[in-house]
Amino acid sequence: MENHQQFTILVVDDEKTNLMVLHKILYPEYNILTATSGEEALSRAIEHRPDLILLDIILPDINGFDVLLQLKQLSETRNIPVIIVSGLTSEGAEERGFFFGAVDYITKPFKNTIVKARVRTHLQTVQHIRMIEKLGMIDTLTNIPNRRSFNERIEMEWRRAIRKQLPISLLMLDVDRFKVYNDTYGHPQGDTLLRTITQIFTESLNRPGDMAARLGGEEFAILLPDSGMDAALSVAERIRRAIEKARIPATTPNGDIETTTTISIGAVSVIPKSEEDLPAFIARADEYLYAAKNSGRNRVCSEPD
Ligand code: GH3
Ligand code: MG
Ligand code: MG
Repeated sequence: MENHQQFTILVVDDEKTNLMVLHKILYPEYNILTATSGEEALSRAIEHRPDLILLDIILPDINGFDVLLQLKQLSETRNIPVIIVSGLTSEGAEERGFFFGAVDYITKPFKNTIVKARVRTHLQTVQHIRMIEKLGMIDTLTNIPNRRSFNERIEMEWRRAIRKQLPISLLMLDVDRFKVYNDTYGHPQGDTLLRTITQIFTESLNRPGDMAARLGGEEFAILLPDSGMDAALSVAERIRRAIEKARIPATTPNGDIETTTTISIGAVSVIPKSEEDLPAFIARADEYLYAAKNSGRNRVCSEPD
């Protein structure tokens, strides 16, 4: 994880000496960008997306509170924490700062150690939030990307496929009669089965761009960028066979046994033309998955070429 990443801090102050002092306190632990006016602060924030902003209030052009307000209105900068560093000591100023969305308020003249400590605290929060967001993209049972990651990734790959006019393929996979398996061997054993088939997916995918995701329950998707129907069908069949052959160990009251399972797969492939066609593409993959279920399970169904 990004434990040793270097954070970038944008320091905004019209007084060169203040900038120098803050630079001295924070560099080289952090990357430092500076701005001496409100306009410059906004443009640098948008361009560089710093991890934290130290903002003076009395600036030559736009008032610092208005800078803060604008930062909070722009989607690019909304989530960047802002610490106000100001000579304004009135309670009203501090309240206004927090009201407009600052995370902290440091009054000038400041103690170097206090600035350092507050900066460190807020950057720790930034790091924590990023970690949680990252964790929010992974399914905790199987350790592969979850539905949210899948949605993001397929949208990105779909747009790329339109731009490059390359095929993109999608497999929808669902474990057959999983309810019976759970009822027979218990829910924890069902979880083990899900982990086992996830491992088979991962081992069956060769290209770095391929992605397997757990969409929920016992339903999975495999995205195959730059791949046509032939490739998709060969991956799908390889997975179906590997799962059919897998022997999944289970402990029962009567001793250790080996269990088996099967999976049904719907496959679609296209060279996409429009962003709007993505939901229909996903829906077609689902339709072929249901066709596979309805025609007997343990099979791959795809649309005719
Ligand atoms: P079909 O072949 O038609 O797909 O039948 P099925 O039994 O697999 O499908 P159904 O949707 O009826 O049942 C899905 C079962 O999956 C029910 C639910 O208890 C189980 N399940 C969903 N999520 C999990 C999970 O995380 N762990 C375990 N062990 N079971 C789960
Ligand atoms: Mg099922
Ligand atoms: Mg299901």
